[in-house]
Amino acid sequence: MDYEAVIGLETHVQLKTKSKMWCGCANEFGAAPNTNVCPVCLGLPGVLPVANEEALRLTALTGLLLIAPCRGSPKFDRKKLFLSRRAEELSNHAVRPALDRQRYIDFEVQRRHRPRADHPRASRRRRWQRNFHFERTSAVDFNRAGVPLLEIVSEPDITSADMAYEYLNALKEILIYGCVSDCDMEKGMVRCDVNVSVRPNGAKALGAKIEIKNMNSFSGVRKALEYEIPRQIQVLKGGGKLVQSTRRWNDVTGVTERLRTKEHAHVTLFL
Ligand code: ADP
Ligand code: ZN
Repeated sequence: MDYEAVIGLETHVQLKTKSKMWCGCANEFGAAPNTNVCPVCLGLPGVLPVANEEALRLTALTGLLLIAPCRGSPKFDRKKLFLSRRAEELSNHAVRPALDRQRYIDFEVQRRHRPRADHPRASRRRRWQRNFHFERTSAVDFNRAGVPLLEIVSEPDITSADMAYEYLNALKEILIYGCVSDCDMEKGMVRCDVNVSVRPNGAKALGAKIEIKNMNSFSGVRKALEYEIPRQIQVLKGGGKLVQSTRRWNDVTGVTERLRTKEHAHVTLFL
């Protein structure tokens, strides 16, 4: 039996606004940790968030650019998602912030080339180790909290890895030309959750949806699908069963891996 793929993409795009979604803090990249924060975007009690008019305009504009005018009244979800350093480390090695990565490298180099005891760098090493430990357990940067993100969800009618890649590039082009977003992948301005299932050719019913979370490059999306679609087909051909689940793309090994529930346990979500 032959199988076909069914793909739906959920794309998060950072809007090109001067300030954040609910407060006047700057929406900028690369500032020192926790300098663009206020009681509103820190989510402290008793604050009065005010919607960013430019973000609303850009959202409506995107609707027009995608020939999908906004219907009815808009609905907002204000979510607070706190990811401790530890959770981040366990669940997503790929998107570790550059600042912390730098520290990691320092630490690893120091360990591998362990200086002699009388070497002046010995004390530096100890200090770094402590910092490193601190970073892992409690440091967090709220500069990105409250940055306006627009989610664009596709119907499940993309049918191949190449088509998904083209869809994303086309979407990016529209958003850049519309001045909606700079879509700079390097700065994490576009992220994508990839939903993919397979079904016997011509079948009407959709197969079990497998979600590959938090992709940060379009070529990564294509590679992940080029791996994941044959994997799913192979499971079914081997008489196996697929269940709805979440995976992540490991760019180093070139495979998708199932996320263990243990990893989710470290993520605290509160609304
Ligand atoms: P929600 O998460 O709001 O319940 P869905 O799960 O229906 O929405 O859809 C989320 C995304 O997953 C959409 O992009 C949709 O096209 C896609 N999707 C839904 N079901 C499947 C499936 N069986 N196979 C592939 N993609 C799917
Ligand atoms: Zn703020």
